Amino acid sequence: MKTYPLAKPYITQKEIASVSAVLRSGQLSLGPKQKEFEKKFSQKLRVKYACAVSSGTAGLHLAMLACEIKEGDEVITSPFSFVASANCILYVVAKPVFCDIDPITYNLDPAKIEAKITPKTKAILVVHILGQPCDMAPILKIAKKHKLLIIEDACESILSTYHKKMAGTFGKAGVFAFYPNKQMTTGEGGMIVTNNKKIYELCESLKNQGRDINNQWLNHIRLGYNYRLNEMSCSLGITQLAKIDWLIKERQKIACLYEKYLGKYPKLLQTPQIAKDNTHTWFVYVVLAKNQITRDRTIQSLEKTRIASKPYFPAIHLLDFYQKMGYKKGDFSICENISSRALALPFYLGLAEKDIQYISQTLIKILAYGNRK
Ligand SMILES: *Cc1c(COP(=O)(O)O)cnc(C)c1O
Repeated sequence: MKTYPLAKPYITQKEIASVSAVLRSGQLSLGPKQKEFEKKFSQKLRVKYACAVSSGTAGLHLAMLACEIKEGDEVITSPFSFVASANCILYVVAKPVFCDIDPITYNLDPAKIEAKITPKTKAILVVHILGQPCDMAPILKIAKKHKLLIIEDACESILSTYHKKMAGTFGKAGVFAFYPNKQMTTGEGGMIVTNNKKIYELCESLKNQGRDINNQWLNHIRLGYNYRLNEMSCSLGITQLAKIDWLIKERQKIACLYEKYLGKYPKLLQTPQIAKDNTHTWFVYVVLAKNQITRDRTIQSLEKTRIASKPYFPAIHLLDFYQKMGYKKGDFSICENISSRALALPFYLGLAEKDIQYISQTLIKILAYGNRK
């Protein structure tokens, strides 16, 4: 029986050669590959500056610091996300203020944001979730009206667009991630993009032990970190970035095939929907089961047939340590509903149509059988 993991990086001889070349060169950090990766990434995103970092989480932390979010500040964000997007607010001792989501895109619902604004609100941290951008026009309007910063977690949505503008390029800073399950990978890694010179220079300094950016080696002018991205990863990133358009087209084809085999069973499950102003670049493929019991049972049944699936994402405000901050079940009913039914299916380059047909038919059989009981 064939095994289907949830995700798999796309690595060819080209990637292997590009990493080997760095190893042979002897320069493993702070070298030309970092500069080249940053330059090419900023050109691809059509922004002025890009700053490579050791992970998406590190990038979010530095974006918060560079935007001067600090103790006592409140930051409005989504509870339907990977935990790092809310944790970065806690890193700077600010308060994450969650706001419920839109039931179609699972992104922040702009209509619910203003009610969350207080005199302490400093920023809105939007998360472009699963590969699809937020409804940015009303969010930008709210931010302008209340003088709030926009920071973007675009870790799941590289090159996705909203009204033809790319996710990660709307706010003061945008953050991307290159963990192996993302659309492109550097092993571990991330990138901060911005059009603001001051933000860029702060991020450059903060990631490199607070050195002044003229790189006086031992001149540390502020409290910094080691969030640098090594040369092997940067070289891998350059190779992956060169084929990112193709990687995304292939992901879009796989999503279409899932829609072809799953879209005709609306009574058993709901397939992803794309808002009309958006393009989707597919971080993962998430369907909704009828309810949590069916979803959880389905994950177990799929596992027996060697098809991996996962509940993406658990609501952040219901994690134990967030509940201790005062959040509770019932606070964000749409997020909780989606979270309890969400099921991510195997999604990676190399899945052929017959694989997708097999996975889909297996899933439908399980759901239909569960329905009869
Ligand atoms: C992947 C991801 C991150 C960052 O992840 P790292 O593993 O630190 O690179 C942040 N936010 C979201 C929404 C993500 O999916």
